[in-house]
Amino acid sequence: MQKNERLILTAVDYSEQGVAVCKYEGFVVFVKGMLVGEVADVLIMRVNTRQAFGRLMEVIEPSKDRVEPRCPIAYQCGGCQLQHMSASHQAEFKQKHVTHLFDRQFATHPEVLPIISMEDPWFYRNKSQVPFEVKEELEYGYYRAHSHTILPFETCYIQNDESNQILKFIKDFYFEQSVKPVDLRHVLIKKAFATEQLMVILVHKTKTLPLMNELTSALLTQFPKIKAIVLNVNKKEDNVILGDKFIPLTLESTIEDRLGDFTFKISPSSFYQVNPVQAKVLYDNAVKFAQLKGMETVLDLYSGIGTISLFLAQKAKKVYGVEINPQAIEDAKANAESNHVSNVEFLVGDAKEAVRYFIEEKIHLDVILVDPPRKGLDKDTLDAIMTLSPDRLVYVSCDPSTLVRDCKLLEETYTVELIQPVDMFAQTYHVETVVLMSRTKK
Ligand code: SAH
Repeated sequence: MQKNERLILTAVDYSEQGVAVCKYEGFVVFVKGMLVGEVADVLIMRVNTRQAFGRLMEVIEPSKDRVEPRCPIAYQCGGCQLQHMSASHQAEFKQKHVTHLFDRQFATHPEVLPIISMEDPWFYRNKSQVPFEVKEELEYGYYRAHSHTILPFETCYIQNDESNQILKFIKDFYFEQSVKPVDLRHVLIKKAFATEQLMVILVHKTKTLPLMNELTSALLTQFPKIKAIVLNVNKKEDNVILGDKFIPLTLESTIEDRLGDFTFKISPSSFYQVNPVQAKVLYDNAVKFAQLKGMETVLDLYSGIGTISLFLAQKAKKVYGVEINPQAIEDAKANAESNHVSNVEFLVGDAKEAVRYFIEEKIHLDVILVDPPRKGLDKDTLDAIMTLSPDRLVYVSCDPSTLVRDCKLLEETYTVELIQPVDMFAQTYHVETVVLMSRTKK
């Protein structure tokens, strides 16, 4: 196979990222934007030893699952990878992906429960973080896939629409004032869906953003739902968006959202699930899997601002929440107090040290719930969980690969009982999964 060759290929499978996989003369050819079952004209862009990467030139036999992407830049932007798949096909892709990962690692496992998708999978995100850059004028956009070139947009179809409007407003504001804020790097917008409150975080290289006060008052006038505007100072040139310094430009620097029976305070830096509709579904399933009767002691590891902890506390005797971000723990404590939940205790710390603390203090745990970042659990944490040996382990995961890896490492003492995927990230290849494991051996 040669670079620049044109081939007629048939897609037989998907990669983990929803890229079509075609087979040709012993090569695996990856083609973005193609669907399984389709026959297409493909231009070969890059050839490795046994793999090649092709560009979809023309679909010759389209799949019945193909739909026209709603977003005009869906194929260039790195954000959504699956807009050309119908909703039912996206669900099928994610379902099969999770199932396949379990099949590969486990001789037997319970059937993966049908993925819970959204009824209306558009404009669902409550948080956007968008790079800004001064070229000729101030511009913003998402990065083109695999690059750092900004691809401008006006409407992001998975973002809440206020965030689309605020971004445009900031760009137009500087344009009208003929000012170029060359050190404005990112704008983050958070929206609390239940209360409609908005937070705007302006990430700037220094602590004085040009026309800072003028922009603040203009934003507040134009968008009365904005409750907090915060300047974040980030001088570093790495990939981390937020710097350590937050300067409130409004009286308030937090917003509040409601989820289920609870109100949650959200700070600029703390984690909050980006899809509030599906977060509720996810939490309800996680709590159901914990099978609480009211007498249990539960550990919520990687608790963030204590969302799951409060839901668990309604059904348990005592819940401990552990989280590494001190601001999130402060929010978690405030959330427990304002919601009058007294059977929770929050501890700030690294998960692997916290689990050691529970071993040393001989605190008996009936259930441990973990909700780690994408990289999953490390060996020390896994070992400590097995030493703590709770009856049930509920694993909430945003990366099924590390989830399955960790479930396999726990197999010695824990059996996978239930696997429930939840689609928190429609139009993208990401999938959230809740797993219930129960202890098989002492
Ligand atoms: N369960 C929460 C948060 C999940 S996100 C929710 O649903 O909202 C994962 C959280 O783990 C983040 O808040 C992050 O700050 C925290 N975290 C990351 N690494 C950690 C570590 N080593 N120890 C403890 N917490 C960690």
